[in-house]
Amino acid sequence: MTPYLQALNRADITQLFPDCSATELALPDLTHVDWAVLDYFGWLHPSGHLGYVVVASEQGLQGMQLRRSLNHSARPRTRMCSWCHHVYRSRGTALFSASVVGSDGRRFIGNHICRNLDCSLRIRNLASDPPTYLPETIHIEHKIKRLKNSLLAFMARANVSA
Ligand SMILES: [Zn+2]
Repeated sequence: MTPYLQALNRADITQLFPDCSATELALPDLTHVDWAVLDYFGWLHPSGHLGYVVVASEQGLQGMQLRRSLNHSARPRTRMCSWCHHVYRSRGTALFSASVVGSDGRRFIGNHICRNLDCSLRIRNLASDPPTYLPETIHIEHKIKRLKNSLLAFMARANVSA
């Protein structure tokens, strides 16, 4: 069982991204974050091209910077978020990619993820728009575990370490 995400402050988070300037990180105001319903903390840079995730693992807090590419194909298609399994009928996901640590930017991995990095709200039905196209009957605890395992597996593939 991986640890729960505790309430974090700005210093907790910024120290996970030592190579990012404050402008690049664009950490949002944390005052109103409801940590109790978050399996990971994710936010987007105002440019829309960068995203960040922070998650608690057995090794401690881990953070990862991601590049975001919106799906601009002409025809919307059904896609499932690789982390939370929310199914969208149109453009609800985006391709998030990370450069593999130690590859000098030569290797990238990518996942199609909820475009606003709001998987935690999706599995708890706290984000209603749009509802999943394929509802699941599995228990929330199972969804939480699957979400965290998928995210940590993605980080492991990117060689992110705590
Ligand atoms: Zn998701």
